[in-house]
Amino acid sequence: MNQNLQNILELQSALTRLSEAEQRLHGIPDWMRELHEEHTTRQTEIQALEETAAEAARQRRAAEAAVQDAQEKLKKYQQQINKVSTQREYGALLQEIDTVKGQISSGEEAAFSALAQSEKSDQELATLRESFREIEERYAAEMTRWEAEKPEVARQVEELKTRVAELKTRLPRGIVAQFERILDRYPGGATAPVRPIERPGQKQREWHCLACNYRVRPQVVVEIRNGDSLVQCDSCKRILYFEEESA
Ligand SMILES: [Zn+2]
Repeated sequence: MNQNLQNILELQSALTRLSEAEQRLHGIPDWMRELHEEHTTRQTEIQALEETAAEAARQRRAAEAAVQDAQEKLKKYQQQINKVSTQREYGALLQEIDTVKGQISSGEEAAFSALAQSEKSDQELATLRESFREIEERYAAEMTRWEAEKPEVARQVEELKTRVAELKTRLPRGIVAQFERILDRYPGGATAPVRPIERPGQKQREWHCLACNYRVRPQVVVEIRNGDSLVQCDSCKRILYFEEESA
């Protein structure tokens, strides 16, 4: 096969493996993805419950402060009772005392229900944290295992980068530029295999580009087999090759 095509196919293969290795290095490995999602879900649940508990505690403090305020007012009004001189003032003061007593009792109710809510949340939180412990331990263990694997993946990344650079020096600049233009358009791969279309009863074999399915002209098939230059798909412009030859 055309030596340039051979190098292009090796370059594409190295680039694909490089991108996979980089993804592995910077992402979550497949084998711990499920656990990672479970871990994240549990963490979110715990955070939400912590917020509920904190909100209940805030409400409780606010209600208790309101009760204390009302109690001080009540004390003040009760001291004033002995000093009032008219029936009208006395009536008004009794009214104030009633209002403030109402505030005390509704404040106490609010504080009590906030306390109940806060206790309930604390209890739920304790249960959730307990059930989370096993996942957290497993997660920590797998993270350790993943961290231990990372240097090997990083080494592969470096090796592949060297390989890519080396393959590029073996190719004419114009071809590297052509390849990179196609790769810009198709980050998944700039090359495409050619396959025969199986049509029973047909005398002449038809071929198509496996990437875009476009029919490959017989003349192009000959060019790929014998030509010295790279051949692009008429439709998608990827560089075409025969799979059996790349093996
Ligand atoms: Zn194509």
